[in-house]
Amino acid sequence: MAKLCIDDLQLEGQRLLIRVDFNVPIDERGTITDDTRIRAALPTISYAVQHGAKILLLSHLGRPKGGPNPKLSLGPVAGRLAALLGGPVEMAEDCVGPQVKARIDRMAAGDVLLLENCRFHPEEEKNDEAFSGALAGLCDLYVNDAFGTAHRAHASTVGVTRFVKQSACGFLMQTELKQLGMLLDRPARPFIAILGGAKVSDKIGVLANLLPKVDGFLIGGGMAYTFLKAQGHEVGSSRVEADGLKVAQETMEQAARMNVAIHLPSDHVIAERIDVNAPTRQVDGSIPVGLMGLDIGPATISRFTREVERAKTILWNGPMGVFEMRPFQAGTFALAKAVATSGAHSVIGGGDTAAAVVQAGVAERMTHISTGGGASLEFLEGKELPGIAALTDKN
Ligand code: AMP
Repeated sequence: MAKLCIDDLQLEGQRLLIRVDFNVPIDERGTITDDTRIRAALPTISYAVQHGAKILLLSHLGRPKGGPNPKLSLGPVAGRLAALLGGPVEMAEDCVGPQVKARIDRMAAGDVLLLENCRFHPEEEKNDEAFSGALAGLCDLYVNDAFGTAHRAHASTVGVTRFVKQSACGFLMQTELKQLGMLLDRPARPFIAILGGAKVSDKIGVLANLLPKVDGFLIGGGMAYTFLKAQGHEVGSSRVEADGLKVAQETMEQAARMNVAIHLPSDHVIAERIDVNAPTRQVDGSIPVGLMGLDIGPATISRFTREVERAKTILWNGPMGVFEMRPFQAGTFALAKAVATSGAHSVIGGGDTAAAVVQAGVAERMTHISTGGGASLEFLEGKELPGIAALTDKN
């Protein structure tokens, strides 16, 4: 790892600002419905507590438009974090300003203070210099453990690092970089990438970057229909991106030249519309006019499962169908189970795919489930993530 990590820092008595990703779902009653992201930050926070830092936690929550919004307060997170840590967590009224500074002055080694949603300040997303300086003014040292926002150049992820002596990654960030980095550097073979989800345009960068590295792609979900259409198949009213046809065609030609297999669905669960109550049926090959492919069919599941069983390394990003609705979830859940039992090193891209493996009841059997959707895609596209580039080099 070329960047400093939290265990390279002298933390005792230091004011340590940790950028975490506490962007968790909270319902109307203020209840956190999924605390995965809070749990994922615990190793770093506990380490800082044990090493006597004064810990300031900084995060965004949701998309407040240009100012404070009580519905997007991190208040509920403080209680849940305290319960998970087994110690008190104070909640600050803001993330900068004299009141916050006064609170920090009263902190003792091992205390934890959760700062209020940094996006209550529009300067955060503008990577504003004065706001970055104000954040840095709260602390002696900075740690970024928010992999999910590492692809954004904001004040709390990039700007702040210009004003602090040392900026390091946390343990979650370190694990993410190691697990995703392994896919690009030295994957055990055969290495297959399973790509699905709604849009080709979101995944084309990953396809291009992984082409020289994988042994094959399994493509399902909405994005498969652009590839099938580009091959000349009838896809009815399935989701097709007109401006993705050419790039799908080129990708398939390039893959053929490089001897990389691209496996596409051959049968489908189809319906007239994306609706849990819409009548469904299965078809092989062509999809009739007026109907759309909403899940992969049983023959495709068998074919994809055989590839999964042979693999030693698997990356999976994007569901095989509209898995949120029962009639279209069989393909995604079958693949989740196949990946779980394959014995392969399995890395799940964040977002919908993470939710799908949880719903399928196999999350514990995956090697790594990324906490970053967009960030993991950009990493796998081979792009440098600004939140990581900004951290202090080890030498
Ligand atoms: P993404 O965020 O690009 O990974 O896309 C995830 C979304 O793709 C999920 O909400 C799925 O419901 C949707 N999806 C998967 N398969 C299809 C399909 N065949 N047609 C339309 N949407 C799909």
